[in-house]
Amino acid sequence: GRAPASLTPTELLALDRRHVWHPYAPMPGIAEPLVVESASGVRLRLAREVYGRRELVDGMSSWWSAIHGYNHPVLNEAARGQLGRMSHVMFGGLTHEPAVRLAERLARLTPGDLEHVFLSDSGSVAVEVAVKMCLQHWRSVGMPGKRRLMTWRGGYHGDTWQPMSVCDPEGGMHHLWSGALPVQVFAEAPPPGFDAAPDEGYLARLRELVGRHAHELAAVIVEPVVQGAGGMRFHSPAYVRALREACDEHDVLLVLDEIATGFGRTGALFAAGHAGVVPDVMCVGKALTGGYLSMAATVCTPRVAEGIARGSVPVLAHGPTFMGNPLASAVAGASLDLLLSQDWPAQVRRVGDGLRTGLVEAAGAPGVREVSVLGAIGVVRLDHEVDLTAATRAAVRAGVWLRPFRDMVYAMPPYVTADEDVARIAAAMCAVAREA
Ligand code: PLP
Repeated sequence: GRAPASLTPTELLALDRRHVWHPYAPMPGIAEPLVVESASGVRLRLAREVYGRRELVDGMSSWWSAIHGYNHPVLNEAARGQLGRMSHVMFGGLTHEPAVRLAERLARLTPGDLEHVFLSDSGSVAVEVAVKMCLQHWRSVGMPGKRRLMTWRGGYHGDTWQPMSVCDPEGGMHHLWSGALPVQVFAEAPPPGFDAAPDEGYLARLRELVGRHAHELAAVIVEPVVQGAGGMRFHSPAYVRALREACDEHDVLLVLDEIATGFGRTGALFAAGHAGVVPDVMCVGKALTGGYLSMAATVCTPRVAEGIARGSVPVLAHGPTFMGNPLASAVAGASLDLLLSQDWPAQVRRVGDGLRTGLVEAAGAPGVREVSVLGAIGVVRLDHEVDLTAATRAAVRAGVWLRPFRDMVYAMPPYVTADEDVARIAAAMCAVAREA
């Protein structure tokens, strides 16, 4: 047969439409995705010219993950070196240096006494594992009634079953499943604004809700400081702190989902750092491997792990085939070294400043409700749903890859994006706000 590379873009799209599911898409496919041939630095190279463009500056970091850009020599070398030793072996009964080193690094980097690391293969599974850890902890210490979860409205934690139950069942993507999913406890979404003074009434209601449901709550699970795919909203770290205090007071575990925010995106290595909070369980993914490979991790404290070990079934009954994948572990280790060897806080600040400057034009524009920037994340909220076709056309004409959703045009560029490319991304966001 022919190598895939020899397909023309037209042939490829015909096969794509017929056989390939894309995220949140029907089958057979209806929208025409852009065919990417390669990616290097912060640029995606298309297989053919589209709206007069062959190369696009990436404003999305492949959904928060490619923080160092693409085709990075250090990450390539890590992958190549590990590939020559072993790309994968089962993790049951075997162990290896890439996974052990990565776990030790994660234990060191994550706050407080988070030190037991479960390496899985996607963010959704990392959340499933976190939930399982919490439920099993309570079961093992003789409190099996504590098995519900509490979260905020407007959140997003993934597309598998338990994570869907803590996405917003009303406004969010998974409303189709309300009635079928486990029924969780929902607090109002936190009032918006990272720098806004905390709303005392809201804080009191949050604490009251934790107290009222504590007898049945295994855990509170939230995205700290940034609610991402549920609506791209920033909030005060005070709300995360209040949850930590309420969980301590009422003996409920706190899970922080840092899958989108982890590894510097908000300006702190972990968003929990803005709040000075140590959760009982933390989930990371996305940028963990610099966007190279599919890997996520769930990190818990000794308290959670020791609780599980005391149970009648003393093991955490979870073991994905590709758990601790050596290739992904090696690249993740290299990606973390690369991040920490650079002045990443300055890079993130610089990208954020560039977005802030470039988005001034959008702030007063017709149809724009709000512009907000935190860390290396920029969001333009419109007063209407974005027309995705018109948005893609406007962005591509401006030479940028963006993927708006609902009423939001947003960007989270690789940290290494040069100033002129950040300006280009912001200009493309303004163009989308005008034209879509
Ligand atoms: N949690 C958060 C906060 C996320 O943003 C995402 C993905 O967007 C997930 C979980 C799910 O991760 P994955 O898509 O790798 O399953």
